[in-house]
Amino acid sequence: MELLRPLGALLVGALAVSVAACGGGSSNSTAKPSDGEVARSRHTSCSGFAWCDTTLSAEQRTALLLDALTLEEKFDLMAGDDPVSAATGDPAVGVVNGIPRVGIKPVYYSDGPVGVREGQTTAHPAPILLASTFNPALAGEVGAAIAQEVKFKGNDVVHAPTVDVVRLLQHGRVFETYGEDPFLASRMAVPWIEGAESQGIIANVKHYVMNNQEGLIGLPPITGLIGARILVNAQVDERTLREIYLPPFEAAVVEAGVGSVMCAYNFVNGQPACSNDHLLQTILRDEWGFGGYVLTDYYFAQKDTIQSVNNGTDLEMPLGVNYNSLSLNLAVASTLVSEETIDKRVGNILRTLFRYGFMDRESYPVDDSLIDKVGNGEVARRTAEQGIVLLTNNGLLPLSSSGMQSVAVIGESADRYVNGGGSSAVEPFDLITPLAAIIQRAAPARVEFDPGDNADSAAALASQSDIALVFVTDNATEGEDRTCLSLSCPTDSGQNQDALIEAVAAANPNTVVVLQTGSAVLTPWRDRVAGVLAAWYPGQYGGPALAAALFGDSNPSGRLPLTFPEFEADTPTANNIARYPGLALPDENGGTVFNARYDEGVLVGYRWYDHQGIEPAFPFGFGLSYSDFHYRDLSVSGSGPNMTVSAQIDNTSARDGAAVPQLYVSIPSSGAEVQPPRQLKGFQRLQVLAGGKAVARFQLNARSFSYWDEGQGSWRIAPGCYRIAVASHSRDPGLGVNVPLAGGSCP
Ligand code: BGC
Repeated sequence: MELLRPLGALLVGALAVSVAACGGGSSNSTAKPSDGEVARSRHTSCSGFAWCDTTLSAEQRTALLLDALTLEEKFDLMAGDDPVSAATGDPAVGVVNGIPRVGIKPVYYSDGPVGVREGQTTAHPAPILLASTFNPALAGEVGAAIAQEVKFKGNDVVHAPTVDVVRLLQHGRVFETYGEDPFLASRMAVPWIEGAESQGIIANVKHYVMNNQEGLIGLPPITGLIGARILVNAQVDERTLREIYLPPFEAAVVEAGVGSVMCAYNFVNGQPACSNDHLLQTILRDEWGFGGYVLTDYYFAQKDTIQSVNNGTDLEMPLGVNYNSLSLNLAVASTLVSEETIDKRVGNILRTLFRYGFMDRESYPVDDSLIDKVGNGEVARRTAEQGIVLLTNNGLLPLSSSGMQSVAVIGESADRYVNGGGSSAVEPFDLITPLAAIIQRAAPARVEFDPGDNADSAAALASQSDIALVFVTDNATEGEDRTCLSLSCPTDSGQNQDALIEAVAAANPNTVVVLQTGSAVLTPWRDRVAGVLAAWYPGQYGGPALAAALFGDSNPSGRLPLTFPEFEADTPTANNIARYPGLALPDENGGTVFNARYDEGVLVGYRWYDHQGIEPAFPFGFGLSYSDFHYRDLSVSGSGPNMTVSAQIDNTSARDGAAVPQLYVSIPSSGAEVQPPRQLKGFQRLQVLAGGKAVARFQLNARSFSYWDEGQGSWRIAPGCYRIAVASHSRDPGLGVNVPLAGGSCP
């Protein structure tokens, strides 16, 4: 199997990825200033050619333009043209030069899920926090806000959202995702894409598919070596693929009609994701009817020329290592690739550009002053406020300022911008750190800061303070997985943050821990502190959002999109190197370097812990509030699988708050196959006034009750008794009802 191509490209790629991962690709002094229009030649809209006629359909215009292009020009359109922009973000993250002769202007590509990686931007909270809001409408606002900045930095396409379902909590890119549940990820991805595309930007959903690990013991920041994303082959059964890993992509294509899909670095069942006919042709195009274009992840994702062209990859980014004039001419001359197939590939790109109006407008301006920094910052702040998860509270929270004289803020991460590394690292337009926000909010109480590098002095400060707030973080980055789930992991700062928490908690019972992490971490000290908040990477206004949650100006309402395990050994891949990082053995298909066996199957995330009967530290869907909610009056109506389920939620407290009722379905096993005990099939986020009530309504359909039947090769509802529960989290029994379906019966 071909793995890596010419050495030169390899080195350029390594450099590009390396710089991107290091610095987030921010512009240097020669690059664009943050305000005012930047001189970059603006290209005009298509005019004077037959294909510029806007009364024709995108399909007709594409056909006319394809007729006018030479074969060489078509090859040109199949690859990026700027090998270093991926690293610098200047003039964009990727560029495909146009063909001026026929009125095609350059197409500019940008990252990504947290904000634009191109100079300064609004630094939104990490998508894992967005998922914690369980608020799809807000995901739409975030998508729109990011795309507005993508646009006014002169770009046409955004490489986002990241919808890979989390299999491995140590994965370096968990923070970029929407967590471990395919239904939740789908519900967040669709509005995000719609919001982004409403700004005239093409969304590029990524990474299709099974980009679930970066690899271990890397040449940081380039990429891990053991089980590296560019070498690993995910060995996954069809049912797991369909039920767990594909649904967010399916929703992006079928529901949101996304314009482009990024194929992933890894192999899937022996074939590179970027030349995988099953994924790219059978599923994406034939089954889902995808009409947009497929582009590759940057360097090393595309592993060959001929199979990639024939099996469905339209554009190689950021450079034509495989899609260049020489290799494509050879492919066509040898008849291994037909000219019709080249037309299909280029046609997919052009049709999308026509559909999105790209051909009929000028290139977007590069002008930060057009960005609504205040409005977008407000979206970032609101997201942080809704996505911070209150994990424990012995009653100390919310903090009351009355009588409070001193607050110790401990931990260096309280005093800086915290984010994951790699292509979604961004440089904030503005920053209010947690420390700054707490100083302001706690006044007139005295706030003293200790960086936490010496546990004894931190404990001494805590012992003299009324309240101690300990900030801890991890070090997650694209290109490398964390080596463990603890806060004392060697790949983090090396500081023993668990020992710091223990020391501070021993010195002051009024200790609250604030996690600013990209994924779940171990919390062995959680019963010895007064409260724990999971703030993820909360973005440029995470500080004010945290202060609001701590002091009760807001009411925490985030819910976990990931299980927090009690022990690392409890996770599905623990102590099983065949599952992760994979075994360096050849397989029956001719061998990739690492085979990661996904034989936990559909038991991913909470499905695993539930099935194994393992008690997690904090279950999926969990999150406390300063309000108390009571669920009652479950009712089900409708026929067959098309049901409406409703329940009443009472807020029995004296505080307004957001409840997040979740609907779980237990699918009975039809015999041979394993079924997860529960699966999320609906949720709502409801603001309920103090002493008030709200009705949660969930619409279910055939897919809510189906599993992928490998024998039939299709979705199937097995005859049996299905349990439906409306609950506050995945381990809450909640209100339940049994429903027979497909001719089955309930005892
Ligand atoms: C990442 C992509 C990103 C691209 C461009 C790659 O290394 O995997 O998610 O969009 O770089 O920055």
